[in-house]
Amino acid sequence: MQKFSFHTHTVFSDGKNSIQEMVEKAKLLGFDKIGISDHLIVHKNITQTRSYEEQKRIYHQSFDEVVAACNKHAEDIRKAQKTYGVKTFVGYEVDYFTYKGWEDELRDFLTKIDYDYIISGNHFLMSEDGEKIFDIWRFKDCDDALKGDIKTYIKRHFETLAKAVRSNLFMFLAHPDYVQKIEVYREQDYQSEINALIDALMQTNTPCEISTKGLRKFGHFFPSDHILQKMLKQNIAFIISDDAHNIDELGIYFEKAEEQLASFGCKKRLIPE
Ligand SMILES: [Zn+2]
Ligand SMILES: [Zn+2]
Repeated sequence: MQKFSFHTHTVFSDGKNSIQEMVEKAKLLGFDKIGISDHLIVHKNITQTRSYEEQKRIYHQSFDEVVAACNKHAEDIRKAQKTYGVKTFVGYEVDYFTYKGWEDELRDFLTKIDYDYIISGNHFLMSEDGEKIFDIWRFKDCDDALKGDIKTYIKRHFETLAKAVRSNLFMFLAHPDYVQKIEVYREQDYQSEINALIDALMQTNTPCEISTKGLRKFGHFFPSDHILQKMLKQNIAFIISDDAHNIDELGIYFEKAEEQLASFGCKKRLIPE
């Protein structure tokens, strides 16, 4: 069974436990390594989102704001490796935005921080120019205008993920169908966008995660069985993630995810070193 997780959160973003507590739990579980991938959510108009007030601690308007904090965070993660003897990796789960200049700013930021990897995890729908964003998890409160045009926004969401993948910046793609959270989402309406996303993964050789968070929250994995099967048909590599936000979620249902991957004939696995 996979004995590591590279999609985990700590109090640095919206997790409940410290780095030390997460690494200690990883050791207890017999993990030989763990990647800490706290959220990195940077958008110049982030203050306009519905969730800004409650999330402002982890939402940022510019990359410059977070350089110092990220470097201190990396130091703490590397210290925990020495304390617990579990190999630690410094990662971030980055929301990929599409407004002009954003990707260049991210690339520049990455030259200024100590990190090992980033993963692509998108939690927002966005306008065509990427300037206005809407929290997927607060969708119920969104503008009626957005609701009326929701299919366009969800299509764009998959297109944004494909762009993120094609940037070649990310070690793997997290929760590709996070839009399952939106009640009106029906996977069959987005086949061509999902196929294009799978093409992007294939052509860039980017792995995808199978996340047990879906299992905890909705009773089935992210991605859906159907998307998982399609991806495996194209021989996309997979990594099992828990998206753990506390020590109890670390490594949870990994045996079920192993069974799922085996039953669908997964042959390629991502094993970060
Ligand atoms: Zn996420
Ligand atoms: Zn996450």
